[in-house]
Amino acid sequence: MWFRKEVAVIRETGTDRRALREERMDADLVVAGGGLAGTCAAITAARAGIRVVLIQDRPVLGGNASSEVRLWILGATSHMGNNNRWAREGGVIDEILVENMHRNPEGSALILDSIILEKVVEEPNITLLLNTAVHDLEKSDPDTISAVRALCSQNSTTYLVRAPLFCDASGDGILGFLAGAAFRMGAESKGEFGEGFAPDAAYGELLGHSLYFYSKDTGKPVRFTAPSFALKDITQVPRFRDIKATDYGCRFWWFEYGGRLDTVHETERIKWELWKVAYGVWDYIKNSGKFPEAETMTLEWLGTIPGKRESRRFEGDIILTQQDVVEQRRHADAVSFGGWAMDLHPADGVYSKFAGCTQWHSKGVYQIPYRAMYSRNICNLFLTGRLISVSHVAFGSTRVMATCAHNGQAVGMAAAVCRRHKVLPREAPIAELQRELLRSGQYIPGVVLKDPSDLSRTATIRASSCFELDELPPGSAMQPLDASRAMLLPVPAGPIPSVTFLVDVARRTTLESEIRGCGKPENFTPECVIHKQRFELQPGPAQAVRIAAEFRSDSPRYLSYLLIKNPDVSVQLSDFRVTGVLSLSQSMNKAVANGVRQEPPEGSGIDSFEFWLPSRRPGGKNMALSIEPPVRAFCATNVLNGIARPTTQPNAWVASRDDRAPRITLQWAQPQTIRRIELSFDTDFDHPMESVLMGHPERDMPFCVRDYRILDATGQVLFRVAGNHQTRNSVFLANPAVTSELHVEILATHGCPAALFEVRCYEE
Ligand SMILES: Cc1cc2nc3c(=O)[nH]c(=O)nc-3n(C[C@H](O)[C@H](O)[C@H](O)COP(=O)(O)OP(=O)(O)OC[C@H]3O[C@@H](n4cnc5c(N)ncnc54)[C@H](O)[C@@H]3O)c2cc1C
Repeated sequence: MWFRKEVAVIRETGTDRRALREERMDADLVVAGGGLAGTCAAITAARAGIRVVLIQDRPVLGGNASSEVRLWILGATSHMGNNNRWAREGGVIDEILVENMHRNPEGSALILDSIILEKVVEEPNITLLLNTAVHDLEKSDPDTISAVRALCSQNSTTYLVRAPLFCDASGDGILGFLAGAAFRMGAESKGEFGEGFAPDAAYGELLGHSLYFYSKDTGKPVRFTAPSFALKDITQVPRFRDIKATDYGCRFWWFEYGGRLDTVHETERIKWELWKVAYGVWDYIKNSGKFPEAETMTLEWLGTIPGKRESRRFEGDIILTQQDVVEQRRHADAVSFGGWAMDLHPADGVYSKFAGCTQWHSKGVYQIPYRAMYSRNICNLFLTGRLISVSHVAFGSTRVMATCAHNGQAVGMAAAVCRRHKVLPREAPIAELQRELLRSGQYIPGVVLKDPSDLSRTATIRASSCFELDELPPGSAMQPLDASRAMLLPVPAGPIPSVTFLVDVARRTTLESEIRGCGKPENFTPECVIHKQRFELQPGPAQAVRIAAEFRSDSPRYLSYLLIKNPDVSVQLSDFRVTGVLSLSQSMNKAVANGVRQEPPEGSGIDSFEFWLPSRRPGGKNMALSIEPPVRAFCATNVLNGIARPTTQPNAWVASRDDRAPRITLQWAQPQTIRRIELSFDTDFDHPMESVLMGHPERDMPFCVRDYRILDATGQVLFRVAGNHQTRNSVFLANPAVTSELHVEILATHGCPAALFEVRCYEE
């Protein structure tokens, strides 16, 4: 066995200088940094067929998501606290989050480490160098990197890795810095890009680092003696009254420091200050006498590596700005998207008198262009993660990890496409890159997959049944209208349907209702009032209120049917859930907003609008309703429309509730040779799936297909799956099928009616 290999006895007595052992490697792509951005870039590139060396200076992958730092992975879903519906990122990061949800709904950071590591080591095209820091590089031209040098102190080995393409995913930008790539650090002025949200010097121009602790209740008294370097006077932390004994981990995100320092070179100094704060806070919890509940609690873990928010941002061929985010500007080279708020923090961090953060949301998700993902002056250097080409304000939004990971996937695929064509990053063929990304599960708002090699495109399609939304049947629960509530419903082009809710009325009242649409068809912010209606109601149970409008929609879209807050009215709920239908309430999530309505300062260039949010299961039940005429937006042809999540329509085939053998059939005039089948299921893209700390009640998403089988025209079973919980299933047939029909039979789901976003078939 490898660890029993004999080692010759060594005696070296000379005094000459010695060199470390050097290993040389070649790759198609070198990725520096194994945070989520670098990891997703490496996995994507490897799956697309190129050889990758992934170099990570620390012992585990995941960067700030790892057990070393323990931040929860977030992105455009924004903790379900903004109006971005079905906005979880797709592809590799989705696969990781869905897997983490399945294995680790309790949110252990260590289990997440193991999942990320597993995804990497399962890729034969990746050579992973852990505990190995990139510290130098070689160039063949002033604008071309030819090799990187890295050191692993654990095995006393230096590495020289040559490649035609490099990806900097190191956060601070070690490769870009050493190579001479153009970069910026610190905020732009308001004038530079016309960004109304650009901070002034008093607020500060850089986000700091943070470091956390975990505590636990041992059930018996525990004493704590603080180290001498711990903060002694808790009142130096202006927000000390917000400290709760039961909070730990990233709930203490505001233990932040370093925004006035050089966040690259003074990281160690910043860490010492954060240790001082963390131990001081724990001392305060344990020994101030203000937290009797902490008597039996102990420190379980305290970070040794600070999470870094911001340092260098490198310049690409475009710098994304506030206007790109707020106005949701379109880019022909869009390869990814963002949707977290522009979220800036005061540079004085934990010692600041300002609130810990200032967050401003957009009305919907925005595209991220490819030109922000490669260096403008080092021609073979990709950029990903937090260091992409964005202004400080736009960075406030793009910096979250699921967005970084999604951008990483874009870069990994771009590297594979560049190698295929032997071109540099700037020359990558965009249409091909977008197509490959969409095929791999990436979501690019506004870009539809048109895949000429997909055999399904030439098939006719039929289904055993198609769900018609004629009612959401009443369950047993009532919901008081303590807030305005809405059903987000898909409607077809043409006259819009009427919707009838059932209400209990406590005393005579006027109930107001509205139908609202969105300014942009792809958004879900219900800001355009299409119709208003009032109902004069007498006391009594189960009264029907029918909202009906003479309005024609010019295209299929989502509309919100609202009931306005009324203390005398309760609305009947339904226990039935189905793909592409959601209930909302006008509400706020205080983790990411300050009110039910966003009210930015005058002149900030940010929009005012209301937040209409879903609730997490087991809450968030639909309101019972009947709808006339029924909505037929769940038909079989949806699986061929090139969009694999709800956007302006559900984009899914959904079987009817009473279909005991749901099945979708593709039929061709001539037999086709099929080796690979790609299926996309509904794992609830509205669910943020926070990866650590916060537990979740479900392992598997109720909309997801669990068991299915695929049959050919003769009824022969080609493939069978039991226990699926993943979004994307790639089915490889050991013996290619030659058939004029393909049936996908859904045998069981995790609870809701069978739904399918995509079926694609390939000969190769
Ligand atoms: C305190 C804090 C709170 C945050 N809150 C959230 C949140 O709630 N949700 C969220 O999604 N995001 C959050 N963010 C933002 C997010 O964590 C970062 O923006 C994100 O991690 C950036 O991803 P990345 O892959 O670019 O960098 P990182 O996650 O930092 O990964 C970079 C990796 O590169 C490695 N590396 C660095 N230098 C070298 C080198 N020379 N050689 C080899 N490897 C190297 C590092 O070890 C690291 O693993 C927060 C950030 C901080 C600091």
